[in-house]
Amino acid sequence: MNIDINDKVSSASHKNSIIFLTKVIELLNNSSDNSKELPYENTVIATVFIQMSLELAIKFAIIRNNGIRSILNDKKQTLLDDESLYNLFIENKLKVKEFDNLKNYIKTNENIFYLKKNSILLIEKFQLFRNKLVHLHYNFTNRELDYLKSELIEIIVHIIIVLLYTKDFTSPSEFYINILTKDTFKKLISNRLYINEMYNLASANNSKVFNCIFCNNKTLGMSEFICYSCLTEYDNKNIYGFTDCVFCKTQKSVIYDRLNISNNDHITKGLCLKCDIESLVYECSICETNYNLEFNENGEKQCKKGFCKND
Ligand SMILES: [Zn+2]
Ligand SMILES: [Zn+2]
Ligand SMILES: [Zn+2]
Repeated sequence: MNIDINDKVSSASHKNSIIFLTKVIELLNNSSDNSKELPYENTVIATVFIQMSLELAIKFAIIRNNGIRSILNDKKQTLLDDESLYNLFIENKLKVKEFDNLKNYIKTNENIFYLKKNSILLIEKFQLFRNKLVHLHYNFTNRELDYLKSELIEIIVHIIIVLLYTKDFTSPSEFYINILTKDTFKKLISNRLYINEMYNLASANNSKVFNCIFCNNKTLGMSEFICYSCLTEYDNKNIYGFTDCVFCKTQKSVIYDRLNISNNDHITKGLCLKCDIESLVYECSICETNYNLEFNENGEKQCKKGFCKND
């Protein structure tokens, strides 16, 4: 028998982590965006479930990076071969370290797991909520309730997804869509708190943030050419062209389709991702200069059909 024990156990943790994660996203979306607080029942369930999802995501990440033996609590078990460990796994007899122990492992190996210091503090906060709730009760303060929804989003985006992401996916968007199902993903990217969080992130990393044509959120970072909400990448120069907007005077904010432009006399419709105004874009087939056709300020000297100013 040739068993990849690390793959078997980590896949199981990954799968279960996503089950809890999906439930939390549903709970967040079932409460109205306008109300700051979750209903009490949802608060309790979401707090416990996010912690479950997180614990499993941490186990997944550790097994993926360091192997199953690094999460085992029993010295004798760590010395067993893969096949014996697999048999113990099937019989539910693997002895796994306490969460606190695994959390400290993540904390002291931050260069492997890419979690920020703030993330660890947040994990510890929810660890406390969960332990108190499961063992007796937790009296949430008003301040804690005020921040709970946005902290749940923060844990999903900055911690769980980071831990669950693997190089098996070619892009973060493919990963998101594959693990969350289309429906859950759609719910997540239409959540106001999620959009705000993504806007803040995009703004921190990009000097210009525009509207995304796919999810309609203002979360497209123009330095990285990626939408932070739906994770669509805009950096394929064969598909996407950008030109300046003559209406709002923004540079490179008008997007147009380069794929079919040559079949169409090198003219196509453009849309400004900042002011939302549509226009016609001309792109020279020789020098690839592009401009807005309705406002051709350079007149005769500008590239046009059969003439290139740079030729
Ligand atoms: Zn988008
Ligand atoms: Zn514009
Ligand atoms: Zn030209």
